[in-house]
Amino acid sequence: MKKVIFLLLDGARVDILDKLLESNRLPILKELIKNGTYKKAISVFPSTTGPAYLPFLMGTYPGKANMPGIRWLDKLSFADNPNSSNSHRSYVGYENKYFNNDIKKSIKSIFEHVPNSISIFNEITRGLKNGNDLTKYSKNYYKMLSHFYGSDLIDKVAFNKLIKSIDDEKQFYFSCFYSIDSLSHIEGSNTEKIKKLYEDFDLNLGVLIQNLKDKKYYDDTLIIVTSDHGHSDTYKHFDLATYFEKKNNNVFYYPLTYKKLYKKFNSSVMVSGNSMAHIYLSDNFDWSKQFDITKYELLINDLMSNEAVDILSCKNRKGEIVVISNSGKAIINDKESSIFYQPLEDDPFEYNIKEGLYSEQELLNLTFNSKYPDSIIQLLQIFKSNRCGDIVVSAKKGWDFRERFEIPEHKSSHGSLREEHMKVPIITNRKIKTNDAIRTVDLYPTVLAFIDKTLKFQTDGKKLDIY
Ligand SMILES: [Zn+2]
Repeated sequence: MKKVIFLLLDGARVDILDKLLESNRLPILKELIKNGTYKKAISVFPSTTGPAYLPFLMGTYPGKANMPGIRWLDKLSFADNPNSSNSHRSYVGYENKYFNNDIKKSIKSIFEHVPNSISIFNEITRGLKNGNDLTKYSKNYYKMLSHFYGSDLIDKVAFNKLIKSIDDEKQFYFSCFYSIDSLSHIEGSNTEKIKKLYEDFDLNLGVLIQNLKDKKYYDDTLIIVTSDHGHSDTYKHFDLATYFEKKNNNVFYYPLTYKKLYKKFNSSVMVSGNSMAHIYLSDNFDWSKQFDITKYELLINDLMSNEAVDILSCKNRKGEIVVISNSGKAIINDKESSIFYQPLEDDPFEYNIKEGLYSEQELLNLTFNSKYPDSIIQLLQIFKSNRCGDIVVSAKKGWDFRERFEIPEHKSSHGSLREEHMKVPIITNRKIKTNDAIRTVDLYPTVLAFIDKTLKFQTDGKKLDIY
């Protein structure tokens, strides 16, 4: 029986992996790549734990799954009743329990296609058989140790549980390794201590592979090592909520959401990662009215004049997406069968793409090696969610959007459209053959095809051929 072992090295940086591989510090991965594949792929926007897991487990983009960030506001629900349980969310904290329920109901998880699956330290468990979430009761404890103290115990526990769970019956194993991400936030993502975590992973991978060989499973097993996003060190914070408060706004944001009990709000800021944020604006305290770009030109100009803001996007009155950066301005328009991209002045992403109609794959290929890989498609997908902000901002290198209530302070961040956050590794023990650039969303149909599950519906990704 064919097996897939999916190892998610949360927050792993491709540039660090490259350097460690070059200097022979990851011998097991190096050997794996020799007979297999090492490709770089584009994750999703926001490049943040949670939303960026959706391509792997649901085969879709965060916007289409209605999961546009780790914090969001639903303007219409908020207009209706700010106290309703669906009006706003933060998955950092106790509202995390709503995660599975918040994902669009019509989208099937990989666990529904492959019922004999195992999940370790993963939050997306829709469709997973009872008893197969091996960390159902312990994940909060280990994640807390990892988040606040940078403990690497969580990765050791994950490997132990994974190796013990491998048997004749199970076909798909999904295991998350959080310590690189957690420690990166705490002390920066390019330290010697972090590099040691990559080495620990490599060592444990060796034990896992030996175990698979001993049990005679290895030849029928596809091993995937990947990540949901990268990381880049943060030197300055621009607290967006404070920015709005200073402009005399009544701002709704986490963790001070209890203020809704006695206060009305005219704006809201929801940060993810922390290098991206959704900004929601009411029309004079009326949250039911649609955003009108013409009323916010001053605000948009002011935001763009701030050193921290890199890319700003919002919808115009025609429903097209407007992209603004200090380099230029462009319009993105989804024409269903193709995408119309129109740089108005200079290109905001400095792409050098002519105005015209393109396919999703063409846009990925054309932008893959740029500073903002795949941003056109990524902005299109995030604005498909009705929980998406009226204005979406992505931070400049070295910056993020949250300071006051972030404990511990973030020394490294992710979430933005920049390549440091969007480009991730895909390493497999088998050959993947494709001339096209790839996205993490391509793994879902690829995994299902490998374990002989025929898909009767379209997914957002393309199936990659595995040899
Ligand atoms: Zn992550």
